[in-house]
Amino acid sequence: MPTAFSDPVWQKPPTATPFQSDLGSGGALDVVIVGGGIMGLSTALHAARAGLSVQVLDGGAIGQGASGLNGGQVIPGLKYDPEWLIEHFGKERGEALVQFAASTADAVFDLIRDEKLAVPFTRNGWIQAAHTETALKAAANRDRQWRARGADVKLLDRDEIAAMTGAEGYLGGWLDRRAGVIDPLSYTLELARVAASAGARIAEQQKVVKLAKEAGFWRVATQAGADVRAKSVVLATNAYTDELWAGLAQTIVPLHSFQIATASLPAELVSKILPGGQAVSDSRRILVYYRRSPDGRIVLGGRGRMALPSSAGDWAHCERALVRLYPALAGIAVEKRWFGRVALTPDHLPHLHQPEKGLLAVVGCQGRGVGLMSALGKRMANYLAIGDATQLPFPLSPIRPIPFHAFRQVGVAAAITWYRMLDAFER
Ligand SMILES: Cc1cc2nc3c(=O)[nH]c(=O)nc-3n(C[C@H](O)[C@H](O)[C@H](O)COP(=O)(O)OP(=O)(O)OC[C@H]3O[C@@H](n4cnc5c(N)ncnc54)[C@H](O)[C@@H]3O)c2cc1C
Repeated sequence: MPTAFSDPVWQKPPTATPFQSDLGSGGALDVVIVGGGIMGLSTALHAARAGLSVQVLDGGAIGQGASGLNGGQVIPGLKYDPEWLIEHFGKERGEALVQFAASTADAVFDLIRDEKLAVPFTRNGWIQAAHTETALKAAANRDRQWRARGADVKLLDRDEIAAMTGAEGYLGGWLDRRAGVIDPLSYTLELARVAASAGARIAEQQKVVKLAKEAGFWRVATQAGADVRAKSVVLATNAYTDELWAGLAQTIVPLHSFQIATASLPAELVSKILPGGQAVSDSRRILVYYRRSPDGRIVLGGRGRMALPSSAGDWAHCERALVRLYPALAGIAVEKRWFGRVALTPDHLPHLHQPEKGLLAVVGCQGRGVGLMSALGKRMANYLAIGDATQLPFPLSPIRPIPFHAFRQVGVAAAITWYRMLDAFER
């Protein structure tokens, strides 16, 4: 969430049509959604379209969570390649999961087109850039698996990746043309607008503090004093999950992702740095990801410290990565610095839980939730409307807190330092 030391590049457009922040009163609803990020809003939109009565409650302002703060890279797929998913989940569920993973970028760009969302976007692909032979082999393996499934993907050699990124130090990489970039805050706000016009009520500044089952309904109470009843509740709180439902926060490791944006590039660099407007993630253990913004800045992100930032120096690792990739940017001002939270799970997959009848939770975006949560929200709405769990791409699993969760952050901090050191050796 923004602090004095957090100044995101994504700003609410002054001309944006605001959605109506609205808290319904009266009878029981079909569903209350806790969390108004992409997951909650996509669920709300599709559930309202399916005829359900929906209330979204967010503890802050819409877009204040990861959904309005992220890098805006719309990347299909999961952390795992198709063959791993089939081996792990079995032929039937695995194939269905591969198809779902392949469709997640389409979910975003189809919504933008079909709902006429006012969202700046470019759909020219995502490059996974390899800086070692091992990473190059992994890219070739990924390319083979997705090409066999008809995906519009391509391996890049050293010259091709140098021409497309203008960056130094890559041996090659992989281009996934299904992907693209958006302005994530505009997308989240526009999702809220269309969900509200489809009939969903969306209320900001309504932190949910209590959930209880009463006479067959869920009673949802907020800190501000609202009290709503519904047949079902969806917890779409992801990395910002608090202690609302016992044990849920302990199933994820929340990490901070820090981002910077340069000043708009001068004309002589525009044609050299990401001229095609692709998004890039590199293959380092502590990866950095970057893109151009619609106003011609370079936006770059990477893991940051878990404590809240206290000075601009806390973004120094991002600035170093920027100049390592693009020495020509050494003199260009960094004008924006901000951060947000991502949620990791131990198996690096999103988790869907149903701890009690009518209570659902979705956590664990793994830092790649723009497409994923857009697509998952649609499936979740479908599940709420018709109750067929086989429509959900991931199995509903019990809430299993990570053992020694309280010490996990210490382990993560040590691992990040160690991985940064290994990455530095491979430079
Ligand atoms: C810096 C950064 C960069 C990223 N870059 C990318 C990227 O380029 N591409 C990509 O695909 N993904 C990226 N991600 C990940 C992506 O942003 C997330 O996966 C996605 O936005 C998650 O959406 P969500 O709706 O599940 O969660 P969020 O958008 O985080 O929404 C959760 C909401 O729950 C609310 N909430 C929590 N507790 C309560 C409560 N008790 N009561 C009421 N409301 C509550 C919060 O206020 C918040 O608004 C990035 C994330 C970050 C932080």
